[in-house]
Amino acid sequence: MPLVSPYDMLHNTAAAVGAFNVALIEQMEAILIGAERERLPVIVQISENAVAHHGSLGPLAAAARTALAASSVPAALHLDHATRPELIEEAVALGFTSVMYDGAALPWEENVAYTRRIAHHCREHGVFLEAELGEVGGKDGAHAPGVRTDPREAARFVTDTGVDALAVAVGTSHHMTERTAAIDLALVRELRAAVPVPLVLHGSSGADDPTLAAAAAAGIRKINISTHLNTVFTAAVRDVLDAGPVVDPRRYVSRGREAMAVEVARLLRLFASSLPARAAS
Ligand SMILES: [Zn+2]
Repeated sequence: MPLVSPYDMLHNTAAAVGAFNVALIEQMEAILIGAERERLPVIVQISENAVAHHGSLGPLAAAARTALAASSVPAALHLDHATRPELIEEAVALGFTSVMYDGAALPWEENVAYTRRIAHHCREHGVFLEAELGEVGGKDGAHAPGVRTDPREAARFVTDTGVDALAVAVGTSHHMTERTAAIDLALVRELRAAVPVPLVLHGSSGADDPTLAAAAAAGIRKINISTHLNTVFTAAVRDVLDAGPVVDPRRYVSRGREAMAVEVARLLRLFASSLPARAAS
């Protein structure tokens, strides 16, 4: 089916939606296989770092667009953590239905000014925009373990910029390879009450299943996972390589793809069943 906007996924269903990163075409296939097995919508993400790895956005974007359009479940194509406005413009031109502008390293006024300009551009093209204020630990900013998003600042940022979703710092940090992070659920509930757009959790690889389910129930709507799925993919590849001589890369990447598809399906099932408690207010 045609690519969809995360708007419908995040507003029309009560549960959280999984957003998973790809660096390889096989990972994209894994995400779509997992989502199709569960018949659940999914967000496929390409980060600025993945673009740097490939040297350009075009080839991976073209593959993603084709694969998502052929999928039997609603799927959105999202540019993750873009710090360069030119890359966002390129993604919009290439048919992405969603982008994240990451101005978290900028001073408040600059972040607001850039984000507002990008929000205007995205709105003109019907593209969903996620943004962030401050930093989410690990990526040198808003997402450090000790960093927290202030609910009043968050509400002001959304009003001042016109973004469609907000990444919040509530205890997770990027690139964690163990699922030991604690999430400040009281803060998630406060943010949900204060902020008029869906909340996004970054660095979710660092949180275990019950913690992610609790975060979703507290009001997180989009759950970004990259490192954890890379861990699953690479472990399966390593099993094949450790077992004996292999030459054809399809022999090992296919095992990584299947292991990742199983985990994507499991996570989507978990998120879909983590319904929020009714708001008290
Ligand atoms: Zn992130």
